[in-house]
Amino acid sequence: MDKNTAETLETYGKGITIGTLGSHSALNIFKGAKEEGLKTVCICKKEDQIVYSRFPLADEIILVNNFKELLDEKIQKKLKKMNTVLIPHGSFNAYIGTENMLKKLSVPMFGNKNLLHWETNREMQRKWLIDAGLKLPKVLKSPDEIKGLVIVKYPGAKGGKGYFLAHSKETFHKKGQEMIHNGHMSEDELKNAHIQEYIIGVNIYASYFHSVLNNETEFLGVDKRYESFADNIGRIPADEQIEMRINPTYTIVGNIPLTIRESLLPEYLRMGDRVVEQAKKIAKPGIIGPFCLETVVTEKPDIVTFEISARIVAGTNVGIGTSPYAYLKYGEKMYMGRRIAKEIKEALKSDKLRNVVT
Ligand code: AMP
Ligand code: AMP
Repeated sequence: MDKNTAETLETYGKGITIGTLGSHSALNIFKGAKEEGLKTVCICKKEDQIVYSRFPLADEIILVNNFKELLDEKIQKKLKKMNTVLIPHGSFNAYIGTENMLKKLSVPMFGNKNLLHWETNREMQRKWLIDAGLKLPKVLKSPDEIKGLVIVKYPGAKGGKGYFLAHSKETFHKKGQEMIHNGHMSEDELKNAHIQEYIIGVNIYASYFHSVLNNETEFLGVDKRYESFADNIGRIPADEQIEMRINPTYTIVGNIPLTIRESLLPEYLRMGDRVVEQAKKIAKPGIIGPFCLETVVTEKPDIVTFEISARIVAGTNVGIGTSPYAYLKYGEKMYMGRRIAKEIKEALKSDKLRNVVT
């Protein structure tokens, strides 16, 4: 924890407020906080306020024009006065950025900010997962190495927009030019694109919670994504696909709950443990709270991890209330938003809040 955050924490009394940006998994987080008896504050864009009035889970709403205003001294001061602990989610990475979170934010944040930085850097993330012993898709150094199907990701791609598939050097260049022409990426972005082996299989997003207080990694739920228009391409006959030159895109629209084959569980559980152990080595104190392994399972079945999120993912929204795996562990209403609030409450009770925030 940096000095400013540590000083802020010193001023906090018993009454903690759970705060987050109004987007992504905010409802999940607020509902969990309320069910654990904590106060809530939502940093919200004016146009999205309707959500937090229809689902009245935020005790306090701070209106902003843009999420970056969270960094303003005035807003941070207000949040600190309410003893706010922020819960980071995908919109923090997307709209505020991990550099800003590390350097300009001194409101305590549940989780390890340094790992969010590892998450958003493709090379660092890859190193973390490989050193944890996970299987990853191969990365190609140049389009000349393309032999089979590859997925091409440009550096700052958000939510899978602007990815494309290619199966040869020629299709790479042809489709790359089309992407530039359609405004999906720039010439420079194509040059720096990340070319990855395409894993043929199904998407499995596994969500875990590492409790620092209990030193245990819990398996809380699984989902798959609903993406436009990768998930709809099969409804268009192949002839039309070819004629219209349709290329799948992966804009996330929603999530679908899942359970997985029980015989896959041992490996998923071990993968979670290994990622937690490796995180302790790369960024002390390691993972605090939620994380998600984003995998493709092949017909073998082999589990290949293509990404990690070091925070709550919106896929856990499918478990609001409960999910089969959370039920197996807790036998009651439990879900990621509530699990976070429960950990914060327990930390408060045992005077260990400083162990779960950065
Ligand atoms: P948003 O606030 O909806 O613009 O989302 C912020 C970031 O989180 C973007 O990078 C989105 O791609 C990602 N995101 C939002 N919703 C979901 C979801 N349901 N599943 C996965 N990622 C999401
Ligand atoms: P992402 O933006 O990384 O969450 O990925 C967007 C979409 O691309 C998801 O549907 C992933 O399943 C898919 N995807 C990403 N990398 C790979 C890969 N190496 N092989 C197959 N599918 C992938």
